[in-house]
Amino acid sequence: MVIAAEELEGPGELPGLAALVGADDLDVGSLRLRYAAERDRRLRKDANDQYVEVTAEFSNYREDPDVEAGLTRAPVRDQMEATVIGAGFSGLLAAARLREAGLRDVRLIDSGGDVGGTWYWNRYPGAQCDIDATVYLPLLEELGYVPQDKYAYGPDILEHARRIARHFGLYEHALLQTEVDGLRWDATTRSWWISTNRGDRLQSRFVVIANGALSKPKLPAIEGINEYRGYSFHSSRWDYTYTGGTAQGGLQRLADKRVGVIGTGATALQIVPHLARSAQQLYVFQRTPAVVGVRNNRQTDPAWQASLTPGWQRRRIENFTAILSGADVDEDLVADSWTDIYRNITARVARHAARRLGRDLSPAEYDAVIQLSDMVKGHEVRSRIARTVDDPRTAEALKPWYYLYCKRIGFHDEYLAAFNRPNVELVDTHGRGVQRLTAGGVVVEGREYEVDCLIFATGFEVGTSLGRRTGYDPVGRDGVRLTEAWSAGPRTLHGMHARGFPNLFMMGIVQNATTINFTHLADEQSRHLAYVVTQTRAAGDSACVEATEDGVAGWLAEMRAKASGAARVKDCTPSYSNSEGDPDNPHSLDNIRYGGGPLVFFRMLADWRASGVMPGLVVA
Ligand code: NDP
Repeated sequence: MVIAAEELEGPGELPGLAALVGADDLDVGSLRLRYAAERDRRLRKDANDQYVEVTAEFSNYREDPDVEAGLTRAPVRDQMEATVIGAGFSGLLAAARLREAGLRDVRLIDSGGDVGGTWYWNRYPGAQCDIDATVYLPLLEELGYVPQDKYAYGPDILEHARRIARHFGLYEHALLQTEVDGLRWDATTRSWWISTNRGDRLQSRFVVIANGALSKPKLPAIEGINEYRGYSFHSSRWDYTYTGGTAQGGLQRLADKRVGVIGTGATALQIVPHLARSAQQLYVFQRTPAVVGVRNNRQTDPAWQASLTPGWQRRRIENFTAILSGADVDEDLVADSWTDIYRNITARVARHAARRLGRDLSPAEYDAVIQLSDMVKGHEVRSRIARTVDDPRTAEALKPWYYLYCKRIGFHDEYLAAFNRPNVELVDTHGRGVQRLTAGGVVVEGREYEVDCLIFATGFEVGTSLGRRTGYDPVGRDGVRLTEAWSAGPRTLHGMHARGFPNLFMMGIVQNATTINFTHLADEQSRHLAYVVTQTRAAGDSACVEATEDGVAGWLAEMRAKASGAARVKDCTPSYSNSEGDPDNPHSLDNIRYGGGPLVFFRMLADWRASGVMPGLVVA
């Protein structure tokens, strides 16, 4: 839906809204038209199908450059009380809370050669978490650790994951470099059988699926993708033997190489400055310009650290999520570009406008106020580009023309300036993407760019089915597969429990309230599942827990009731949130997330636990 300029500012319609949010200097009508035109240019019928699954002829893009190939070990056959599939922060939190709840035998399984999940795989130069480390890194107070930088670097984050695994004794039973390929409920033994690509036959009373939301790399199905004969890899499988250097940069082996990067998302923002410094020539192939917010990283102040009092981390985490959810809070504890932008593009700005007007806003006014305020922030982002990038044509091409709330925004203080270097060229594809690959390079708008090395910073599968992302399809009671039970879309209680799948817990974003700070959601989920496991164990050694039909129906009804009815999301440019502009995809992030927001969701889970009777679950 596009609200015409005259509707917004026209006589007697929705007057004066722009002035309420400081947008009165902007040419709102032109901006709306530009945003709509740029979105339309990017909409494509193949939506998610524009990407190829990284299997078969593309499976080399998933190989792990960080472990020795050919590891062999004898297959394991044993029994655990709980098994957690995935050893990223979600899996680590689940396993840690289960250990705290008194479970002795807890096993982590992960395809990586160590724990850490996304931070194990994403070791590209410059990898950094763009969320304040004191809210992103879990269990800081429990482990007595305070990060050195406001935004922690990849190696420090990976080390923190290892710290958690060591602290809770999670390496003891861990099976790494191991992929689960089957998960089947056994009603006789009341336990799950897990099979793996290493021939393991594992039995477990409880199973937690913590595979991660953005873990399977994806490649664009560009014509000729199999013809390219140069070196290539996905950003999450960085090959330092080819590039030289480390996560800190210094990619000296690229000094005589022409390098291409496809993609300009949050990952590319961090990679490009390093490639720009090291490569002989760098081409950055852009389809949609990124929003590049101010980073302003700094070291943790020792005086501030000394002033922290018990409960400090939870207070910061909750404060950050509250601001990013549009709540009114007195204090901004993290105070960075995330909170600055989100204070101005969420419901909070509409509430403030209503207060200033002295009346409620109509739904159209509500959406319009958020869009106008978003345009003000977008204008700031574009002004920063104009100030930073020397060449006016490059600067123009780098400007994003879409609502900031549509796509995950990024932050960097060196990305834009990298385009001022003589060896760096932005190749803008005007929203259409790379045209095709040849044996020697990349073709855009009829011109071939020869490259020795091509790096796909093209992201991860989102909005595809669980089975496709994980490589296994749990088989529950009566031999029913999860994909069959969910053929019309996910059916859960709280996103964690499925009917017919006893003692199985799902972490992640499906039918949960997603948070920008993903570890906050994982922390709440891990507390919740540890509570349910504790209650189930208290009911006896062979007790099982699963969702009731009514419980699932109730949660689906609540999901529908809270589904975002905001017309403004229809104005969004394609992204992984809306399954690349396919709003009907039942797996689309917009369709699977709980619209009530994280604050309501977490409070509801806490109240549910406090009730003591676990409504919607049955323990048999
Ligand atoms: P994204 O999915 O965000 O970006 C993929 C990029 O590839 C986009 O720029 C996309 O363009 C581009 N692309 C896809 N197909 C083509 C094509 N055919 N031709 C040209 N370009 C193409 O992946 P990222 O790896 O950057 O980020 C994924 C997520 O990982 C982030 O959203 C974030 O959640 C997380 N992340 C978090 C970080 C942190 O600091 N916490 C750091 C890095 C990543 P288009 O935009 O047009 O689709």
